[in-house]
Amino acid sequence: MDYQDGNALAGPLSEIFTLDVTVAQGTCAGCGLRGPLAGLHVYGAAPGLVARCPGCEEVVLTLVRGPKDVWLDMRGAVSLRIPVTE
Ligand SMILES: [Zn+2]
Repeated sequence: MDYQDGNALAGPLSEIFTLDVTVAQGTCAGCGLRGPLAGLHVYGAAPGLVARCPGCEEVVLTLVRGPKDVWLDMRGAVSLRIPVTE
């Protein structure tokens, strides 16, 4: 199945995070692979996106944009490490 890279999440996630979360380092709950969200394999088209781990293909996050809210399910991520400036 065709997919885009995790940069496809930048637009939808920018509505709920004020920083560029695609540069955050995520850890996959399935295999422990660590890497930037931009490295995820993103299936589907907005408003419903499914991002899978490039290592094990488990779902790391799903994002659905409704008319009044954004539903973000990140149960496939152990953690997110987000760079910030002082
Ligand atoms: Zn994985």
